Amino acid sequence: MSRHYAVFGHPVSHSLSPRIHAAFGKQAGIAIEYSAIDVEPSGFDAALQDFAARGGAGANVTLPLKEAAYALCSDTTERARRAGAVNTLIRNGDAWHGDNTDGVGLVRDLTERQGLDLRARRTLLLGAGGAARGVAPALLDAGIGDLFIVNRTPARADALADMLGQPGRVHVRYLDDLRNLGEFDLVLNATTAARDGGSFPTLPRSLLGRRSAAVSLSYGEAAIPFLAWARAQGAHESIDGLGMLVEQAAESFARWHGTRPDTDRIYGELRAESARLVTA
Ligand code: NDP
Repeated sequence: MSRHYAVFGHPVSHSLSPRIHAAFGKQAGIAIEYSAIDVEPSGFDAALQDFAARGGAGANVTLPLKEAAYALCSDTTERARRAGAVNTLIRNGDAWHGDNTDGVGLVRDLTERQGLDLRARRTLLLGAGGAARGVAPALLDAGIGDLFIVNRTPARADALADMLGQPGRVHVRYLDDLRNLGEFDLVLNATTAARDGGSFPTLPRSLLGRRSAAVSLSYGEAAIPFLAWARAQGAHESIDGLGMLVEQAAESFARWHGTRPDTDRIYGELRAESARLVTA
């Protein structure tokens, strides 16, 4: 019998997750049904109960529901607790177990696919929302050097730094301080700025040098303004979030099905399509 999975979000029609999980299922010889369910935060709890009643065994959760998903889990992994956000739900009887695979997905893409050595890299994280909370602990665990967090709303950056709990290594700065921070080895954009066609905040060119890597957690058109800026500054690497998307999905798949899919093929397909989209 086909097992039922879904991604919940709002909006979610653009999600590539159904396609990625269908490819993984085919590769592993596992019949899965994976749909996209659009629900606003106020209706999430009821929608999840309905999904469970229809045989839902697991789900991914995306914007803006990750914190809500965390709140309704009966138990969570350590990495989900550190993020305060859940992107992977696993049915456990009448309850849900929560995990967060964003951080491991990003680190796996950067180190294994892109070949970056993250160790001791002076890092700037722009943003302090759900995605930033998911990736920051994994970056620290991967051995980056000092981590500077800058967010439009400083209180959220403070909350993330408090959660990370490494005051000698994790620093919060204001947007206005960016021009005084010098050059970074790694600059990550974990904001939704420019996602809906809005403008991206002006960033000083001093942030990037010729050995720097710029990473956008977004992919497709949403990644273009930041990565175009990074290339114009001469950054050595400019990497979008497509690989992270595929790797976090593979980690969710492994949690549900007990087998880790090979990600190269679907990544290659999506990368070719993304290149066509971006150059069209
Ligand atoms: P959230 O809504 O939780 O956080 C949004 C962040 O963007 C906040 O830090 C917010 O700042 C900041 N922001 C929004 N608008 C602006 C602006 N105009 N100027 C400056 N900062 C702004 O979103 P997520 O953290 O969940 O997602 C962030 C991005 O990461 C999204 O593009 C998402 O698609 C991507 N992502 C990619 C994944 C992948 O697998 N590749 C996985 C997860 C996320 P403030 O706190 O001030 O509101």
